[in-house]
Amino acid sequence: MLYQSLREISFTSTKIWICSLVFFTSTSRTPPKTNSWGFFGHKKINELAIYTLPSEMIGFYKRNRDFLIENSVLPDKRRYIIKTEGPKHFIDLDHYENDTTDLKNWVPIYWSKAKEKYSQDTLMEYGILPWNIQWMIRKLEKAFLNKDIKLILKYSSELGHYVSDAHVPLHTTENYNGQLTNQNGIHGLWESRLVELQFENYEFFVGKAIYHEDPLRSIWKVIYESHQYLPQVFELEMLATDSIGNENKFSIERRGEAIQKNYSSQFSNVYHDLMDDMVQKRMRKSVLLVGSLWFTAWVNGGQPNLDSLIVDKILMNRETKDSIRAYQNEILKLNRSHEH
Ligand SMILES: [Zn+2]
Repeated sequence: MLYQSLREISFTSTKIWICSLVFFTSTSRTPPKTNSWGFFGHKKINELAIYTLPSEMIGFYKRNRDFLIENSVLPDKRRYIIKTEGPKHFIDLDHYENDTTDLKNWVPIYWSKAKEKYSQDTLMEYGILPWNIQWMIRKLEKAFLNKDIKLILKYSSELGHYVSDAHVPLHTTENYNGQLTNQNGIHGLWESRLVELQFENYEFFVGKAIYHEDPLRSIWKVIYESHQYLPQVFELEMLATDSIGNENKFSIERRGEAIQKNYSSQFSNVYHDLMDDMVQKRMRKSVLLVGSLWFTAWVNGGQPNLDSLIVDKILMNRETKDSIRAYQNEILKLNRSHEH
């Protein structure tokens, strides 16, 4: 029953909350509500991916930099108004774990085969991240074929989001926030707090975007890698806690008017060091794969001349406005609940 109730919690509303509000993670009894890689991380990854692109693409992407950055976080906001958005951001690989140690045998890589084996309902419950990325690539290819500038930008920015999610180990497990191992809050710690504290020390010379013959296989490879990092993610958090002591693990910070409890920078830095650049490595890989999949979609979409596409000001559509409003309301609600 405990297992069941956790699944219900994660499926109904919390899973995709795992992201920006790391500051609330340690104080709330319910799982945290944050955004993968944090909004900061997602924006940086999309921005940096622009610089991996070939000369035929980079000018267009640079001119639309602001849009690509801002909209990199829209999928996380959209889940407040679209119920089916949630499972697109994760896949709980360990749900399918069986007696084989070969990850590749856990879930068929193709959607049709996986659906046949487990049913669509099961896949929706435990996440559809790899297939969603494949569908996003196809949409982007079509947008290039049609030279539809608004859709090229929309799908580029959102593809960047999902590809980045696939690089986060905690997006591949049922224990996505350490709730099964008494490590509540680890999700926001790993992908938001550490990135914000360490970003200035990272370097992002990741090379040029490369064409992917079989994007779905590339995505699965990333997801397997992410999953294999999980033992370290959990064990080293415990080790960091032991070495720093529970009393030094958290600190109180002022953010505007609010006083918030957060992981202390001392603890965060020890944890980060113990992981030996894991966060930086995953972020660098995200940047390169985002650029590479933009490039792949452009090639498959007929390599249109992007410099001939004139960019008018792109107005926010209804869905975007509603998503942002719903997200802001949730933040207000969270803030109020923490004032009591
Ligand atoms: Zn996400």
